[in-house]
Amino acid sequence: MTNDNHTDKRENVLIIDDESVTRMMVRQVLEQSGYHVSEAPNGGAGLDHVKQQMPDLILLDVRMPDMNGFDTCRAIRTLVNGSHVPILMLTALDDIVSVQLAFDSGATDFITKPINWALLAQRLNYALRTKKQEEQLRASEARLAHAQQLARLGHWYFDPANDTVSMSVSLARDLGFDSERVSLQTLSARIHRQDRRLVFRTLRKVFTEGNSADIEFRLVNELGRVCNLHLLVERRNIHGVVVMEGTVQDVTARIEAEARISYFAHYDRLTDLPNRVLFWDRLTHSIAEGKRSGEHFAVLMIDLDRFNVLNASIGHTNGDLVIKEIASRLQGCLRSSDTLSRIGGDEFAIIYHGLDSDTNLGPTLSRLMSAFEEPVRHPGADLHVSASIGVAIFPDDGEDLDTLLMHVDVARSRAKQIPGTSYQFYASAMGASVRDRIAMEAALRDALSSNAFELYYQPLVRLNDSVVWGVEALLRWHHPERGMVPPDEFIPILEETGLLHDVGEWIVRQACNDMGDHTFVVSINLSPMQFRNGDLLDRILRVLDETHFPPERLQVEITENVLIDDHRKAKTVLEALRQKQVKVAVDDFGTGFSSLAYLKAYNADFLKIDKSFICELEEDKSNMAIVRSAINLGHDLGMHIIGEGVENIGSLDMLARMGCDVAQGYLIARPLDRGKLERWLAERDM
Ligand code: C2E
Ligand code: CA
Ligand code: CA
Repeated sequence: MTNDNHTDKRENVLIIDDESVTRMMVRQVLEQSGYHVSEAPNGGAGLDHVKQQMPDLILLDVRMPDMNGFDTCRAIRTLVNGSHVPILMLTALDDIVSVQLAFDSGATDFITKPINWALLAQRLNYALRTKKQEEQLRASEARLAHAQQLARLGHWYFDPANDTVSMSVSLARDLGFDSERVSLQTLSARIHRQDRRLVFRTLRKVFTEGNSADIEFRLVNELGRVCNLHLLVERRNIHGVVVMEGTVQDVTARIEAEARISYFAHYDRLTDLPNRVLFWDRLTHSIAEGKRSGEHFAVLMIDLDRFNVLNASIGHTNGDLVIKEIASRLQGCLRSSDTLSRIGGDEFAIIYHGLDSDTNLGPTLSRLMSAFEEPVRHPGADLHVSASIGVAIFPDDGEDLDTLLMHVDVARSRAKQIPGTSYQFYASAMGASVRDRIAMEAALRDALSSNAFELYYQPLVRLNDSVVWGVEALLRWHHPERGMVPPDEFIPILEETGLLHDVGEWIVRQACNDMGDHTFVVSINLSPMQFRNGDLLDRILRVLDETHFPPERLQVEITENVLIDDHRKAKTVLEALRQKQVKVAVDDFGTGFSSLAYLKAYNADFLKIDKSFICELEEDKSNMAIVRSAINLGHDLGMHIIGEGVENIGSLDMLARMGCDVAQGYLIARPLDRGKLERWLAERDM
């Protein structure tokens, strides 16, 4: 049982036989045929040999003392790797019982004694070839099982006779079933509710129409975890019995990966914002939608200035943090309906919808600009990042993607030439109105801080003695490029943007300061929107307090709209003002509802008859009638009357004859800046 030679490529045959002659003969014959032969004289020795080194084939004599061939064979088969070695039993020619026993104890085949030496090598050859094929088959099966396991692929089979589904062990385990055989009911309960119809409709269709099909559906395990399965189903007819079978594969990982891939294909990893691809997509969609509905929208491109330099000096990791911080600041400036996306390393883009229904692009631009005011905190130093913003409007600045983007880019590069954070519109000849409006909003935001507002004063003169009774303060705005803009153009914007709350307070303060040295009344205009904030009264009283302006010299002009708008709130404010001796005048009387009930309820001190009735007073009989009745009505209600818009002497005379108390108009004086007013007053005194 020695002769072991590990480098030897020849096949090892072990002969276990108690007859030394047989062993010797076998060795001689087989060695001639190129085998390597080992010998064992009994079952025990053979077993020992096998344990030490498994031969490629065993020749085993049935009849041996102590441990016979059957027992030896069984013992070999129980060894760890002993199940596959071919064992050829040597039996007596006439011993049929032994042949049967040999197979029962696990023998591969048998060779009858006396041995046919001429055929022995052939028989061995054949047995070894079979063994090799088996090994290959086993290996490929193992590989298949492994592959199936890796692919999470399982086989299943539906038996319509008892409505059960059988499946491979690993599949049952993977799907969380404790048995390989489950009832259709159990299975159905585990299919995702939304997918049940699909699964059963497909199965039914294949069953009745005899095709194959494949579907994906979701299965929910007891813990609620959802797995996605790909099911392949085929109908087969086995000896007249119809069965359904197929494979099922767990594709959860693939579906998750696809979702991840799709996410990263459309979103930026760093900021989680839509990326360039998704931005293009949304913009294309917005353009199509805009063409259909006629909606205007804006496209903004925001480019960080000199970001490459910054990146190089603080490193890419820190650069990424800066980008993230900027992205979240920008996001904070926008509504959820706006698309903010990162379209390049240091480039963001925005699609801003709803230009037609709201006027908030101006404030949004200001917010975007101020997003760059605060430095970005960074260990070492606070970083000041500035940006250049380009704006283009659809469809004015481009009706297709390329033109629009080209024009935003032009606007952006123009903004780049201005130091610090700034924005520029793409100025085309068309669509000036939308852009003007937006640009005006933005400019108005800076008007207070840049001292672009000024108050003009228009004198009001008492008709019976020609004394200057007061002045009306009128707001003026010096636009940086356009010069003086008429109040009718910009006051509505101040109202809509809410800026008038602060500007309104400035007007009161400015008027009180400017006119503090005089003794006449200063009349200021209040817009209905100023009453909408709860703090109008506080603001006025605070200014009076701070400027030491006598409240009885202040008059507020309100239109009837104030009364209609929110009458309870307005009433409270006006009553409180009157309590402090502040005068209340109803402005533009005759143009609104002119409701007597309101006038009574508010107890105004003055009624200002609108200039549209006064300026052509002499020529128009109906105006005359209206003015006369307004004067009488006012007087009856205990109010004084102011006629505004007096442009000629005829109107002035007529107003005086009708009993009007105070007059205002170009005939007396135009609205004048403070210096001119002082000169006008001085000349009058002479
Ligand atoms: P309003 O309150 O009716 O102001 C009188 C307007 O009539 C002023 O126009 C004034 O310049 C104009 N006017 C005065 N006399 C004559 C005249 O003889 N003929 C003609 N044709 N017009 C005359 P302005 O200054 O352009 O103001 C227009 C409107 O803007 C004002 O109408 C007022 O509603 C609003 N506004 C002006 N300043 C302020 C302000 O400080 N606050 C508020 N809330 N509104 C203001
Ligand atoms: Ca007025
Ligand atoms: Ca008026």
